[in-house]
Amino acid sequence: MAGASVKVAVRVRPFNSRETGRNAKCVIQMQGNTTCISNPKQPKDGAKNFTFDYSYWSHTTADDPSFACQKQVYKDIGEEMLLHAFEGYNVCIFAYGQTGGGKSYTMMGKQEPGQEGIIPQLCEDFDRRFIDRCLLHLQSQGTLRVREHPILGPYVEDLSKLAVTGFNDIQDLMDAGNKARTVAATNMNETSSRSHAVFTIVFTQKRRDQMTSLDTEKVSKISLVDLAGSERADSSGAKGTRLKEGANINKSLTTLGKVISALAEMQSNKKRKSDFIPYRDSVLTWLLKENLGGNSRTAMIAALSPADINYEETLSTLRYADRAK
Ligand code: ADP
Repeated sequence: MAGASVKVAVRVRPFNSRETGRNAKCVIQMQGNTTCISNPKQPKDGAKNFTFDYSYWSHTTADDPSFACQKQVYKDIGEEMLLHAFEGYNVCIFAYGQTGGGKSYTMMGKQEPGQEGIIPQLCEDFDRRFIDRCLLHLQSQGTLRVREHPILGPYVEDLSKLAVTGFNDIQDLMDAGNKARTVAATNMNETSSRSHAVFTIVFTQKRRDQMTSLDTEKVSKISLVDLAGSERADSSGAKGTRLKEGANINKSLTTLGKVISALAEMQSNKKRKSDFIPYRDSVLTWLLKENLGGNSRTAMIAALSPADINYEETLSTLRYADRAK
């Protein structure tokens, strides 16, 4: 997919204790960039193959070359997107998948050496490249409203923009932001994350032309998004407000899928530039419009459970990722 605007990766996590306890079988196999899922009800002929830019495997020891560690994922996707931002593109990295699939692990990771996800590694990389006082972090406080500025487009009202001097500042802000994130337990056995977490860096590069002494400014936005769990609201027994929240999340995830696949089609010339892209159909895509279309580069990482008990959900995640190519 050289030069394409959407890069798609899938990543399968190791078994969790619940799956091991239920003696779950692994339905995923990976070979190179191909991912194969087998149907536990039709083990012989129910297998389906998907090819992505990357297929990240984890069911092996860390010293095996096929093991995708956090560094590898950053190197392939995070670093590439950071370099695009340096070139002046707006960039966006999404983690998609069912709750417990490994989205937060991929984006945030853990605060242990070698376990940091894309966001802390990207911030550290920024720091290493000696960017001085040019990061702004958008921090949310309580309930926020989305409004539209006649010239600047959609924005979140009352969102604070904070200047930071280095990686430690960013880490502190991220911890505070994560605490504020709305998380509600549903009937799923594990805590179900019902909100999208959007971390945005506004990156400004200033240059002075030696000949003319004129200053120019290049601004790119880097958005790193840990999407809400993709499992359907009706399968988690949600009621009332939670059900409505679930419906909104489904709408934003469906719209995001449509927007990304429309952009991918445009890139491969199957669609004309003037064709309609439904950014306005969800708040998420509306807010990320600048990071998705036009002068932008997008990457999506779909996080998968390996277990047969999650087969249906994992297959639908693979289909979603497949449509984004
Ligand atoms: P999600 O954000 O999709 O709900 P998490 O990232 O919280 O899922 O992952 C669920 C659990 O699985 C966490 O305990 C996490 O540390 C672990 N996990 C996820 N992906 C991996 C991985 N690639 N390697 C090791 N552990 C992982």
